[in-house]
Amino acid sequence: MRGFTYARPASAGEAVEMMTRAAGRSPRFFAGGTTLVDLMKLEVEVPGHLIDLTGLSDLAEYDVSSPKELVFGSLARMSDVADDRFVQAHYPALSESLWKAASQQLRNMATLGGNLLQRTRCAYFRDSQYPCNKREPGSGCSAIEGVSRGHAILGTSDHCIAVYPGDFAVALAAFDAVVDTTGPKGARSIPLLDLHLEPGTTPHAETSLASDELITRIRVPVTGAGKGSTYQKIRDRESYAFALTSAAVALDFADDRVKEARIALGGVATKPWRAWSAEQSLVGQPLTEPTARRAGELAFAGARTAPQSAFKVPLGIQTVVDSLMIAQQRALA
Ligand code: SF4
Repeated sequence: MRGFTYARPASAGEAVEMMTRAAGRSPRFFAGGTTLVDLMKLEVEVPGHLIDLTGLSDLAEYDVSSPKELVFGSLARMSDVADDRFVQAHYPALSESLWKAASQQLRNMATLGGNLLQRTRCAYFRDSQYPCNKREPGSGCSAIEGVSRGHAILGTSDHCIAVYPGDFAVALAAFDAVVDTTGPKGARSIPLLDLHLEPGTTPHAETSLASDELITRIRVPVTGAGKGSTYQKIRDRESYAFALTSAAVALDFADDRVKEARIALGGVATKPWRAWSAEQSLVGQPLTEPTARRAGELAFAGARTAPQSAFKVPLGIQTVVDSLMIAQQRALA
């Protein structure tokens, strides 16, 4: 790990000012550190200046009492929100997505905002002896002709097939969450689905955030589909592993037919991925094994696979089917 300077702001505004002043020294915001420190040890990230946000206690609060929206400070700890009784009962997909991410120790350290911005787990990205367009633009993609079993099959490009590794953002995508930010140009709100970018020809550009823009809050609109929701994650082992496939599903019913369907996919796409056509296929229908399977097939209709990653299509379809059935049970309970 290389040397760096360190600062500890007293407010979000001061943090942004520090970030702007440090331009040219590769500054980074630092919170839980569960991704950034790893990457610094590997020298994939070599910040010259760290701005430690952990003293900004107002950003660590969250409030789920409003009838309009759930509001989570960006520095709220993953474990605190995962354990919240209201979230567990009324938005189980949110709680489950946090529970199934990482180990308890990591969940205790990691923040919600940092979790949204975690970097890819592509092994080539983390090993500087291999070409990687995301780490070094224009150098090539080692995964396309290499080991691609865990890589993306939706939203890929000829320049990068790295999968978005997170779980919580997938659940947030299903609920149309919004991310509030502050930066030198003031505050703004970004739909969660617009926060992460598909790689296209610029895989190094991963989010729509400016380099000196700070996430302050995450807001989730209240929906009748919250109770009938689930986050299912399929992985090589049952804990402390990243998703091979995952699905965040939320359903609401009227007269035993689907009134509202929300389906987002993880482990298979370059960003949190909303399965719009799958959702539309369910609205107005009774949810049965055939209608659920049809929705799963639509969710993966645009998949672009390699021989090593082709298994993700049937696995992903089954993940959607299982998630829909679990969500229906919860919605109608
Ligand atoms: Fe780099 Fe993306 Fe290719 Fe992985 S998939 S080697 S992150 S360009």
